[in-house]
Amino acid sequence: MIGGATARVPAKINLHLGVGPLRDDGFHELSTLFCALSLYDDVTVRPSDALTLTITGENRRAVPADATNLAARAVAALAARTGDDPNVAITIDKHIPVAGGMAGGSADAAGALLAAARLWRADLPRTELLDIAADLGSDVPFSLTGGAALGTGRGEKLLPVLHRGEFHWVLAVSGTGLSTPAVYRELDRLREAGDLPDDAGTARPDALMVAIASGDVRTVAPLLHNDLQPAALSLQPMLRRTLRAGREAGALAGIVSGSGPTCAFLCADSDAAVSVAAELSGSGVAKAVRTASGPVAGARLIPQP
Ligand code: ATP
Repeated sequence: MIGGATARVPAKINLHLGVGPLRDDGFHELSTLFCALSLYDDVTVRPSDALTLTITGENRRAVPADATNLAARAVAALAARTGDDPNVAITIDKHIPVAGGMAGGSADAAGALLAAARLWRADLPRTELLDIAADLGSDVPFSLTGGAALGTGRGEKLLPVLHRGEFHWVLAVSGTGLSTPAVYRELDRLREAGDLPDDAGTARPDALMVAIASGDVRTVAPLLHNDLQPAALSLQPMLRRTLRAGREAGALAGIVSGSGPTCAFLCADSDAAVSVAAELSGSGVAKAVRTASGPVAGARLIPQP
């Protein structure tokens, strides 16, 4: 066995999130376009006598440091498959916002899978790793693959999407997280109560896929869409102010990321992103403001810190 292994894993945003009807298994059928962004967690796994978790980094608060952590569950799931000893020391250097709609927990699960597979020299076929990932959570397979991908089913069935160039984003992180199940429940409630005319449902976002392939940011901007946005805004009405502030600061478009509450603003280029970030930071609408670009690669092994 080697001394340890570290995986670096990106956050994601959904450039399109269409939510279909509630399925019998309690999940909604989705049609989503994932994009991996250059905001990363590093997950290190080392041999140990007991399962331990150490969380470092700017977003370490609110991350569970026990067996409920998705990284610990990922290690246990892989150990059950390979027969290795699940007692490892896991360190998560946490930079992805927690409960922010950016799949931070899923990223840590993907990182733990990759790092533990390396530690144990488990020679699993990629498809098997993706199956274990899908059992852990709907967004975990995408955290492994990264890039840009169309997600269907509950988001775990992935098809890579052609993309050209790099898109520049500003992320406005809210001080209060949103629970993903609560946002879906709110969407169901709003749908039952009346009309949500902009619902995309499970239609494939063809126009957006063509735009991503062209690399033209001004074609992409008006096509960003999130069916969960009205539900996130209903639960955190201040997000309307955040979205308005980003557009007024010069972003081409703004959208709630996944189930929120992080808001993602698409900018014309990297200079525009820096200027939008500076203005948003001063406006007091967000707890933290970050710039990031994407699509970037999914989980990958890096030298140990
Ligand atoms: P998604 O975008 O996939 O819906 P999210 O980004 O909104 O997820 P996460 O950051 O993944 O939300 O956290 C959701 C909850 O999961 C947290 O409130 C936390 O209690 C729990 N959790 C378990 N493991 C982790 C982890 N490694 N990192 C962050 N949260 C975790």
